[in-house]
Amino acid sequence: MTDRQTQPRTLYQKIWDAHTVETRDDGTALIFIDRHLVHEVTSPQAFEALRVSGRKVRRPDLTLAVPDHNLPTTARRTASGARVPIADPESAAQLDALERNAPAFGIRYIGDADAEQGIVHVVGPEQGFSLPGATIVCGDSHTACHGGLGALAFGIGTSEVEHVLATQTLLLKQSKTMEVRVEGDLPAGVSPKDLILHIIGVVGTAGGTGHVIEYRGKVFEEMSIEGRLTVCNMSIEAGARAGLIAPDDKTFAFLKGRPYAPKGEQWDAAVAWWKSLATDPGATFDKSVVINAADVQPTVTWGTSPEDTVAIGGVVPDPASFADPSKQDAARASLEYMGLTPGQRMDEIEVQNVFIGSCTNSRIEDLRAAAAVLKGHTKAPNVHWAIVVPGSGLVKRQAEEEGLDQIFIAAGLEWREPGCSACLGMNPDKVPPGERCASTSNRNFVGRQGPGARTHLVSPAMAAAAAVTGRLTDVRKLVG
Ligand code: SF4
Repeated sequence: MTDRQTQPRTLYQKIWDAHTVETRDDGTALIFIDRHLVHEVTSPQAFEALRVSGRKVRRPDLTLAVPDHNLPTTARRTASGARVPIADPESAAQLDALERNAPAFGIRYIGDADAEQGIVHVVGPEQGFSLPGATIVCGDSHTACHGGLGALAFGIGTSEVEHVLATQTLLLKQSKTMEVRVEGDLPAGVSPKDLILHIIGVVGTAGGTGHVIEYRGKVFEEMSIEGRLTVCNMSIEAGARAGLIAPDDKTFAFLKGRPYAPKGEQWDAAVAWWKSLATDPGATFDKSVVINAADVQPTVTWGTSPEDTVAIGGVVPDPASFADPSKQDAARASLEYMGLTPGQRMDEIEVQNVFIGSCTNSRIEDLRAAAAVLKGHTKAPNVHWAIVVPGSGLVKRQAEEEGLDQIFIAAGLEWREPGCSACLGMNPDKVPPGERCASTSNRNFVGRQGPGARTHLVSPAMAAAAAVTGRLTDVRKLVG
């Protein structure tokens, strides 16, 4: 046991210490990786490099491959079971490569025809592949999502994907610790998505740089696992390496019995260890931010950065109101791209597209929230494209068992197959140039949903409200 391990430690420090194979003099450490999620976009070169160097995957049992980014969300198979051809040759090549590479390297592959297929960050927790206290990596920025279960999870690049495949380790520099403490209770009608958008608005997209955030406070203790996954998912948008929420009885109940979760005595031993991971009383953080929950309102973005947030009852800000000249320039560029003017009321902005999905908001609780708003309504005539994309085949099945699909369809929304869909412009689900989209995804960057697309990030309930009224809307006014 090192000196530090006898001192009060944070959740992050405990996971780091438990996975350190070796620390070098320069402070970098070789970290064991417990779980590696692989998708089709960042893996082809990594597998090819292994092949060229004659290497194997070190721990195929700790690796899970799922296609998600490029898959179309319309029917993928004909009535006879044949695959519907994928129009984009690069997407098709990446999907084919993963389907070939996974079995060739002995990795479990959940393919497009499997009931469990979905977005990696939905499939991991759902399968019990993602566990508290684990180190989890994936070649996707929003891997922080799994921190909602108390895992140290972060995105990696293609060369790191190759490194983890070959060695099951990564050479890393330890991050600083940051606490985001939310005090008090959230007002009624305010969701975890509103909260994380508000937090990013407060800390900014650079506020978490170099840090791992731990979200603390009663709000998170009372939050569902789906909500915690939503919050941690967007930690990267605050610049953080990862986001974490301490695992608790809710976490254990969520995981128990899932296919990859430990069983029997191993389960009991795992729970005992997971319970020991909570940040010790007296542990200190390098940085601390306190948020008053009562200040959080249903929140939307107005610009092209996730920190460009405002309460739905607010207005588009004047770039001149920012003290920092570089922020003034960024705001001017954002407003030009978004086609907005300072002082414009957010709840008067019309949208032509609505996207309910992505690894941020495509779990069953998200779909229930959207359906509760849409029930008995139809989408506004100016909304010409509105899709609901479940995060996985299992979410899809559960939603259909609950009749949510019928609510969406009756409201005029399309009910799709699972995948990343309109979170990013890599598959056929794109927002046309110059049009607006109320989107439950996580990024509103220039062109993220397609060239020229204008994205407003919102919660599932707020996206549903926008579908009904045809403009950004305070869902509380619509449903009371
Ligand atoms: S839904 Fe978006 S953020 Fe999530 S894994 Fe897919 S592309 Fe990445």
